[in-house]
Amino acid sequence: MAHVSIPKYWKALPQKYRLVAGKCSNCGELNFPPTTLCKKCGQENTQKHIELKGKGTVYTYTIIGRGGAPPEFAKMQKKCGPYAIAIVELEEGLKINVQLTDCDPFKDVNIGMKVSAVFRRIYEQENVIRYGLKFRPIIE
Ligand SMILES: [Zn+2]
Repeated sequence: MAHVSIPKYWKALPQKYRLVAGKCSNCGELNFPPTTLCKKCGQENTQKHIELKGKGTVYTYTIIGRGGAPPEFAKMQKKCGPYAIAIVELEEGLKINVQLTDCDPFKDVNIGMKVSAVFRRIYEQENVIRYGLKFRPIIE
């Protein structure tokens, strides 16, 4: 069984819990999450980690209804009902796939809506609570 030491685990946290992308110094492409090889030019280890602001707009979205969720989300879905999955275009120009929160997927979500990242509990599996980033509407 793989053993992950505590310091290593905590070291891995920032990347997981913040929005960090790898900006390629060769071609300028943003790789999210950062990778070894740039997805555009294929160069190795050219990426500088940059923190994204976590603000963007809904590019497109879909509502996940009952029965459509992967098993690890089923429990949450039972509790919260349908939820929206969106492709959010960040201010940095990157498009990422996220779950929307703090809104009614049928009434509140629309294309072009401004959203920002929040750190939320995603699901619980075998008594381990998984956290991750979700996006919620920016109330202006
Ligand atoms: Zn590149």
